[in-house]
Amino acid sequence: MTKRLLLFATLLGLGAGAAHAAYPERPITLIVPFAAGGPTDVVARIVGDHMSRTLGQQVVVENVTGAGGTTGTTRAAQASPDGYTIMMGHMGTHGAAPAVYPNLKYDPVKDFVPIGLAAGTPILIVARKNFPPKDLKEFITYAKANSEKLNEAHAGVGSVSFTTCSLLNSILDIKPTRVPYQGTGPALNDLVGGQVDYMCDQIVNLTPQIQAGSIKAYAIATEKRSPALPDLPTTKEGGLPEFQVSAWNALFAPKGTPKEVVTKLNGALVKALDDETTRKRLLDLGAEIADRAGRSPEALQKLVTSEIARWNKVLRAQTAAK
Ligand code: ASP
Repeated sequence: MTKRLLLFATLLGLGAGAAHAAYPERPITLIVPFAAGGPTDVVARIVGDHMSRTLGQQVVVENVTGAGGTTGTTRAAQASPDGYTIMMGHMGTHGAAPAVYPNLKYDPVKDFVPIGLAAGTPILIVARKNFPPKDLKEFITYAKANSEKLNEAHAGVGSVSFTTCSLLNSILDIKPTRVPYQGTGPALNDLVGGQVDYMCDQIVNLTPQIQAGSIKAYAIATEKRSPALPDLPTTKEGGLPEFQVSAWNALFAPKGTPKEVVTKLNGALVKALDDETTRKRLLDLGAEIADRAGRSPEALQKLVTSEIARWNKVLRAQTAAK
């Protein structure tokens, strides 16, 4: 290397080092691949709020919707890996999507660096408030008898609501009309308005509506009841033990994001999840908060790998059965 080149390289290296040390120097864009008001958006805003304070820079949510969350996720995968664009992904974008989109433009493992798990989100079966069935048993009978007349809302092919209700519909052997939305925020609005009959979704934005009585909840698809909704039976208690499913939301950065930056972002996430007010906001909505070990980038990497394998099996088995 010539002296001049060496000097140039040294300068570059120093420049990059200094930039990382000072990170973040400007606001961070947090891509939410669904509409405002849905679970991914709600978790992103709660966690992002506290992370902004730790990082000393605003974490700005940008809703980039479409194709079951894969449009925003593709945008995040292709963003410059400098720590100024990150995303809130979930079990759909980073778990189920590869099984339903053969031409997916990103690889959830290879094109991202995991930052950490933000929330575990149990899945509920909910319906418009004047939907005739009173409980899960009646829902099963009613849905089977009226299968083709039913309208089910979801957040697009590959989303959590889509994949989990695909599983429910196949267990019940029903074929409702499936109505796609840009996220389950708008889907929930239509459920409250009575334009659609039922949906499966992550607990967080459902809890306030259930408590207010503006929608009906039939069951929670976890092993145990949620402390946020203690009166809501589990699918096991309600007579549908086969429907056991849970989702999650997590932060990811584009591949190539420097390790120090990821460590800083993970540190801010961990701190947010230790903060009493932030915890309470999440727990009151029914979200589950992972322990310290469960919030590491390594734990998230493992989760993503196992979710891809799990949903690949589930969704392919369904396609084969059709
Ligand atoms: N919960 C959604 C899903 O079904 C998306 C959203 O958060 O709006 O994937």
